[in-house]
Amino acid sequence: KRKAKGTKKKSIVEFSKIDADLLPTVIIVGRPNVGKSALFNRFIQRREALVYNTPDDHVTRDIREGIAKLGDLRFRVLDSAGLETAATSGSILDRTTGMTGHVLARSQFAMFLIDVRDGLQPLDFEVGSWLRKHASDIPTLLVMNKSESLDDHRGYLMSAAGEAYKLGYGDPIAISAETGLGMADLYDSLRPLLEEYMLRVLNEKASQSKDSSSEVEESKLPLQLAIVGRPNVGKSTMLNALLQQDRVLVGPEAGLTRDSVRVEFQYQGRTVYLVDTAGWLQRSKQEKGPGSLSVMQSRKNLMRAHVIALVLDADEIAKARCSMNHAEVVIARRAVEEGRGLVVIVNKMDLLRGEENAKLYEKVIKAVPEEIQTVIPQITGIPVVFVSALEGKGRITIMRQVMETYEKWCLRLSTARLNRWLCKVMSRHSWKDQVTRPKIKYFTQVKARPPTFVAFLRGKAQLSDTDIRFLTRSLKEDFDLGGIPIRIMQRAIP
Ligand code: GDP
Ligand code: GDP
Repeated sequence: KRKAKGTKKKSIVEFSKIDADLLPTVIIVGRPNVGKSALFNRFIQRREALVYNTPDDHVTRDIREGIAKLGDLRFRVLDSAGLETAATSGSILDRTTGMTGHVLARSQFAMFLIDVRDGLQPLDFEVGSWLRKHASDIPTLLVMNKSESLDDHRGYLMSAAGEAYKLGYGDPIAISAETGLGMADLYDSLRPLLEEYMLRVLNEKASQSKDSSSEVEESKLPLQLAIVGRPNVGKSTMLNALLQQDRVLVGPEAGLTRDSVRVEFQYQGRTVYLVDTAGWLQRSKQEKGPGSLSVMQSRKNLMRAHVIALVLDADEIAKARCSMNHAEVVIARRAVEEGRGLVVIVNKMDLLRGEENAKLYEKVIKAVPEEIQTVIPQITGIPVVFVSALEGKGRITIMRQVMETYEKWCLRLSTARLNRWLCKVMSRHSWKDQVTRPKIKYFTQVKARPPTFVAFLRGKAQLSDTDIRFLTRSLKEDFDLGGIPIRIMQRAIP
């Protein structure tokens, strides 16, 4: 009885260093009660899980997602178990298949879970043939759970495995989600699959970054958008406008309160995930008091977002002296410091319409961008949009700005292009001292999301803060990167 922890084996891929966005996704499927949730929980340990809450045929389907840890392996894991309790009609398999079909598309591997104590059930065969029909291209591991309950000295496990073989998914891997038994075997079976996948992805990425024609490809990845703001500024109303339907999806079920709900929608052929929506929906329902940080996003959830939309209330701004209170300033600054794209949305503009409000209207339009510039002086051109979510007119305005911000945030510039640019701008810069000035040998973008650059320097001289600010400003102007946090690092060439 080995546990993954006990194994000294190591993968050739350093999974812990890979961006979570790139990790492969493994979905756990199986009939109810085989232990899908138990296995999911073991994989993610005490780390946080997301709950997708996707409306589908009038049924709310919960799918949990988390980052799994198994020895040194990392992968995204999806648990479909929330489904059975959430659904109210149709056969279980119908519901299972409906849901699973929806998420299969984003899974690269599957674990087909069965229960060794119950033995094979008709429903197991149904799940098996369904998988064969819909997911024949997804490598699937057959996993026999609750194996700690059978005594393998008496050969019970062997005969159960022989039985399970009939499903047509090869030899089952005997595990216990509860005790951790068999995790080393699971590791051994999973590792080659994940390694091969990861190597392919990393190679593709490497060849892409050499190829300058793929400059904006990364913006095709799903966008994670967080809508943040104090209670009552109109986030729920805005969410409905974005989803183009009349209700906001419910939060997580009891017992899952730590989890966050992820709602997704499509915009111009792109997938947009709304991050931590349940967090603020729940909290804002409970505490509609004056906006404090407690009702804002938790730092962790917020920083999972690619773009953060900070919602302000036009009516309150009109009455107040400042556009933003302390909590809002903190969120905006943090978003930028953490390298997220920031879009400020001023909602309830309808309340400032009419002749009698003309002055207030003017004031709001002028004050908000100015105040943002004061609060976040390091970035010019943070986009501000003025909408009325109540009238449902904000969707296009908001999404156009969000998408534009996201695309800039994902931009990749080739080294060749950057160095042509560098030659030009260097002559524009007034160095403190021409003789001792730092010599930039070349300049390259090491990362997008957010755009991150490295200046390679020859000699001892370092770039000063002024030099870095100049480079940042020039990059923004010349490549239309306004409103985006840009990072520039420097490194000496030996
Ligand atoms: P699912 O979500 O329907 O796939 O199943 P759950 O994870 O909710 O588990 C169903 C039941 O099986 C629960 O009572 C669990 O405690 C139990 N269970 C899960 N894994 C194991 C295991 O490895 N051994 C034993 N004995 N029970 C388990
Ligand atoms: P949340 O707490 O941020 O989710 O805010 P809600 O979406 O629940 O909205 C709070 C109140 O503001 C509700 O009474 C909404 O009808 C109202 N509201 C939201 N958006 C607008 C808007 O654009 N104009 C006006 N006049 N009221 C709005």
